[in-house]
Amino acid sequence: MAGLGCGTQKKGSLTFAPEAGTQRLRDVINKNVSEEEVLGALRAAYEAGWRRTKLYFMLGLPTETDEDVVAIVELANRAYNAAKDAVPNEDRGKVRMSISVAVFVPKAHTPFQFSGQVPREELLRRVQLLKAARLSKGIDLHWHDPAASMIEAVFSRGDSSLAALGIRAWELGARFDAWSDQFDLALWEQAADELGLDLQGLASRTLELDEALPWDFITGGVSRHFLVREYERALSTGEITPDCTTGPCGSCGVCGGAVRTVVAGTRG
Ligand code: SF4
Repeated sequence: MAGLGCGTQKKGSLTFAPEAGTQRLRDVINKNVSEEEVLGALRAAYEAGWRRTKLYFMLGLPTETDEDVVAIVELANRAYNAAKDAVPNEDRGKVRMSISVAVFVPKAHTPFQFSGQVPREELLRRVQLLKAARLSKGIDLHWHDPAASMIEAVFSRGDSSLAALGIRAWELGARFDAWSDQFDLALWEQAADELGLDLQGLASRTLELDEALPWDFITGGVSRHFLVREYERALSTGEITPDCTTGPCGSCGVCGGAVRTVVAGTRG
């Protein structure tokens, strides 16, 4: 099931990526996967002998509400029950599940490149919501540090002026920042202060739809017009954009309709 983003993590463990707890929010990000499909894929995995799975979600997606946050735990609980129902009685004690919650980071060349990241204090409040929700025993909850995600967002949409920030943080001792036990926000804050940069402001700024972007000189083929259209549609209606190998060409600009013609055209 390509849409669910299922992959083998290591022997004995499978990862599924519903990304959001509610159908509304999965539609906003164009995930195009239903809860029935998530639960069906999990059941199939456990029936086939897998006993350990991970569900991957994102926190702070554009338009996310408290209801969406709590729904992550509710979906995980239903998934855990579905998994236990799918195994023989004698194996139920072996069913393991974890949920991994990353923080949304706006990325260049995507419709949500314009979205500011939810501020760190608010993300921490949402993490507390997750922790307070009633998660079934047998499910482990892991979340990504909102402070590290803020730095990711700064660099994800930054321009060449951020080279000085990276160098200064390194001079101050920043190393292996992707390792939570090594990451030290204070070093980045000191570097930013010295350079007159506002880390939270950079990460959380919502970009103008027509402003010049640092990555404008790079093209992946998808037009700015398409990204803006997808962004506005996601925020206003949450309407799904069909997969062009099975549905109509969305005029993204990559191939001028060739994918639709060559791949889908064979199906008539
Ligand atoms: S058929 Fe080509 S241009 Fe049309 S949506 Fe698909 S990739 Fe984009």
